[in-house]
Amino acid sequence: MSAAVRILRDAPLRQRNTFGVAAYAPLLAEVADPAALPELLARPGFRGRPLLLLGGGSNLLLVGDVEQPVVALSRREVAVITQSGSDATIVRADAGVSWHELVMQTLALGLAGLENLALIPGTVGAAPIQNIGAYGVEVRRFVHAVEAFEPATGLLHRLDPGSCAFGYRDSVFKRQSDRYIVTAVEFALPRVGTLMLDYAGLRDELLAMGVDAPTPTGVAAAVIAIRQRKLPDPAVLGNAGSFFKNPVVPAALADALAARNPSLPVFRAGDNPALRKLSAAWLIDACGWKGHRDGDAGIADAHALVLVNHGGATGQQLLDLARRVAESVQARFGVALEPEPRVVGATW
Ligand SMILES: Cc1cc2nc3c(=O)[nH]c(=O)nc-3n(C[C@H](O)[C@H](O)[C@H](O)COP(=O)(O)OP(=O)(O)OC[C@H]3O[C@@H](n4cnc5c(N)ncnc54)[C@H](O)[C@@H]3O)c2cc1C
Repeated sequence: MSAAVRILRDAPLRQRNTFGVAAYAPLLAEVADPAALPELLARPGFRGRPLLLLGGGSNLLLVGDVEQPVVALSRREVAVITQSGSDATIVRADAGVSWHELVMQTLALGLAGLENLALIPGTVGAAPIQNIGAYGVEVRRFVHAVEAFEPATGLLHRLDPGSCAFGYRDSVFKRQSDRYIVTAVEFALPRVGTLMLDYAGLRDELLAMGVDAPTPTGVAAAVIAIRQRKLPDPAVLGNAGSFFKNPVVPAALADALAARNPSLPVFRAGDNPALRKLSAAWLIDACGWKGHRDGDAGIADAHALVLVNHGGATGQQLLDLARRVAESVQARFGVALEPEPRVVGATW
């Protein structure tokens, strides 16, 4: 077996998921070089089986032990590929690079674009999976290409953004979760970008910091300050960020709900005039869940969207609570909530 692969048996996953849920994986391969993937996936235990790719475990709910073999890519190289004649610089990062470290590295290189996405936990390899987004920016705007290994064919693909089928917290990688292993991502980043400051509280934060001429680095600092204040730190209180996606509903339903609930935030849903996006946090808060606790499974005090593990909750207990939250929103507003993280070991 290649020296680039380390195989662990009965690997504990508690430290490898930000909910801090106790679970085991019968087989876990740490892969330091993606070139070793074909050899690994030809081995007994891995051959022909669906895999669970694991990055930082910040967008997963593990319900029980993981049946499928787990693969974690650990190479962490970042390279500036072209300073092309065009405005954009192409930066290539391995799947194992920490997302936040990449953001800070690109800003230090004088490149703009990723500043609103600072402090999102996890890895570069997972960023395209749900097209991570925050403060009015989605990563798809800056994805130049995604390198992905396809176990079924043994081919290494280079997908352009169109082939990634990015949507709101969605992509081809999320929809066909067994098809690709993302090995690296290339980003096209401008030297001078348009700052996106319209999202809730960002301008106020910059003003409070005494910044009247914001730079990308200043915006990242403001985003970091807001996130540190608002979101529970998984190292202290287990969570996976927002547990539910903002539901996208027909405009007629959104209008009817807004007429009855004037404070319900309603947003555009991309470019589709027939659809609207509703605030899942508002719907959950209106059903009285903020701060609720069933044993060690709970909803954060300050954030109705954040499901939390107060210590010893199992994945099943967290899932049960999430289902009750969704059922109450369905019963009161007629709106179906969907989880944002991948639920492993159970169907939603
Ligand atoms: C406090 C907190 C705040 C958060 N805030 C945000 C936010 O603002 N915006 C946002 O979009 N998300 C947010 N998240 C969710 C999460 O951080 C992101 O989705 C992140 O991209 C997950 O990265 P990860 O490496 O931890 O992925 P994991 O949780 O390990 O995996 C997530 C999914 O991606 C798959 N995957 C991972 N790596 C690969 C790979 N190399 N190839 C193929 N599939 C792969 C996994 O199988 C799984 O389906 C937050 C989470 C937390 C805990």
